[in-house]
Amino acid sequence: MAEFSEEPKFTLRLIIDEEKNKVVLAEANRDFVDVLFSFLKLPMGTIVRLLEGRQKSKIGCFSNLYKSVTDMGIENFETEACKQILLNPRSLKDVQCKRLKLNINPTDDLKYFKCSRFSSCNLCSNFRGSECVCGELMDKEIELSENVQVKRSIRNDVDGVFARGRSSFLITDDLKVSVGSTGLVLTTLSRLGCYDVSKLGERFLDIGLEEILTLLEYMFSSNTPLTYTFLKNQSPHDVDDMHRLLSPCVEVKTEDANFVEFTLEAIVRKQDMKILDVECGEDFVDLLFTFLAVSLEYVCDINLGCIGNLLRSFKDLSVDTASTCVLPYYYKCQKQLSDITFEEPPCLYRYRNSNPRQPDYSLTTDDDRRLLYRKDRLVHVTLIDPKSRGIDQSENGSGFVKRGTRFTVSDDLMVTPRSSLSTSICLLKKLQIQADDLEMQVINIRKAEAMSLLRASLMKSSALNTSLWNMIAKMPKEET
Ligand SMILES: [Zn+2]
Repeated sequence: MAEFSEEPKFTLRLIIDEEKNKVVLAEANRDFVDVLFSFLKLPMGTIVRLLEGRQKSKIGCFSNLYKSVTDMGIENFETEACKQILLNPRSLKDVQCKRLKLNINPTDDLKYFKCSRFSSCNLCSNFRGSECVCGELMDKEIELSENVQVKRSIRNDVDGVFARGRSSFLITDDLKVSVGSTGLVLTTLSRLGCYDVSKLGERFLDIGLEEILTLLEYMFSSNTPLTYTFLKNQSPHDVDDMHRLLSPCVEVKTEDANFVEFTLEAIVRKQDMKILDVECGEDFVDLLFTFLAVSLEYVCDINLGCIGNLLRSFKDLSVDTASTCVLPYYYKCQKQLSDITFEEPPCLYRYRNSNPRQPDYSLTTDDDRRLLYRKDRLVHVTLIDPKSRGIDQSENGSGFVKRGTRFTVSDDLMVTPRSSLSTSICLLKKLQIQADDLEMQVINIRKAEAMSLLRASLMKSSALNTSLWNMIAKMPKEET
């Protein structure tokens, strides 16, 4: 790819147990640790996309969610932008990641588009081709004033992008990152049973994008990703061990315990009371699809193998202390996970350019003082929700998928629009099961279960059963 033609390289110093062919410790500089920490900032959908086509690229149920969006026809989405937003999720950290020595997910700056009647509509969209209230497509780009662009690229060199002001770090094979100390080296050696220092070797490696993507991949499938990335020419097999480390439990918070968010119809196999799939409305699918925009740091848990270790190290060493998940404004749907908040869309003004060689209008934000002191030049412009079209703009908090559609969601989170009869018959055929071996149960999901479902999506291939199993009635229903 063109953007990687002058690919930056990192030098890693590896201490290796030559006998076991295993990485004991790696020493790296801050630039590399920043790239490691940037993994945590990637939206789950981006991780799936970056690892697409690699051998071991299944990221829990997120790969299925992503595939569902890819496979679903555009007619099932509210607008074309909805599908784009989900397949190429954006994060508020994209701007910060531009400062990385190597950004594995380079993104363009958000662009702004207007319709041809802009001077009377006063609306713009971050997505080309959104429908304006006047009925025209918003497909003409409008530029942000230069001041705003400059401000966004200001950097601070005292600290790294994420890691706090040190120049050298030690990294264990299971991704615990720390500031180097003799004590830490000794503890790590004894934990790994490396008492004979003469068996240790040292190697210097220059690594680039390919190795970093491999490391990202193995982080999901091994507890020793450095060893697999740098020493072994094979994929790891200890993926199940990591999944066994933690089984998510449903944390029910008392304040919202009775507050129903989503009503689902679960198809349950009577024999083992296993949920085969659920049938649901668009609100639940919107929730599931929003999972793709949530970054890894809010999906994983500090107990989750090496990803958990990396998260814990990040919390210890990072300049970034934000603890809540904030998503771009256009991911906001009617019903949301309680732990997610949304940025406010920027407050925008348009002004007419005096220079005839410039385009007729430019946009500026309300923190551009140079222009704001001349308030008479500025007209307020509303940024539209790309999930709604034309005159529906006034409807707040719309969703990604078509209103009034029913969907089927499998245990491993494949989402398909439901076509009444055929879907049910297909399921029976696929499972080679008799109709009377199944029963339908209505379950009500609260925010706590929705959160548990998000976590289970990373760790289990059976997300619905893991998070909702205790919601279904275990006694067979009395026949009347
Ligand atoms: Zn218009």
